[in-house]
Amino acid sequence: MPTVRTTSPEETEALGEAVGRAARAGWVIGLDGDLGAGKTAFVRGFVRGLGCPARAHSPTFALLHEYRGGRLPVFHLDLYRLGSADEVYSAGLDSCLNPGEAVSVIEWFSRADGLNPPPPSLHRIAFRWVDESTREITHDLPGL
Ligand code: ADP
Ligand code: MG
Repeated sequence: MPTVRTTSPEETEALGEAVGRAARAGWVIGLDGDLGAGKTAFVRGFVRGLGCPARAHSPTFALLHEYRGGRLPVFHLDLYRLGSADEVYSAGLDSCLNPGEAVSVIEWFSRADGLNPPPPSLHRIAFRWVDESTREITHDLPGL
């Protein structure tokens, strides 16, 4: 899978912004990587790339934020506190796995590994901390 290196949070946001411009209705983008790896920075750019006016921040405590007012509604989830795929259902989040006319971007997606069925239009992005300002971002998005 392609790997991109960014050397600032702004650069990671710009990558997210490009993906936001390319995003199609129904996409689910699963993000993985340790705390501080840049997942939320990516989402901030992604939400901007879709034209939503809000500044995205981490939904770790709310599990879900919705951003509207752009080209497509965005569901921003963070599964950090979930223990298993089953909890996605018990938390009532399953509609975000098949977002229809919206798009979902999901931090700590690997918490839901084993989801059955998996989301139909799933993309995955892995974030790796390299040093204080460098992140390695591996993705399955064509043309990025
Ligand atoms: P996560 O959501 O993965 O826990 P955040 O996006 O909330 O990560 O935080 C990333 C942190 O790393 C921020 O404090 C940001 O300023 C810093 N940072 C440094 N370099 C980068 C980079 N290249 N890309 C993204 N974030 C970076
Ligand atoms: Mg985060």
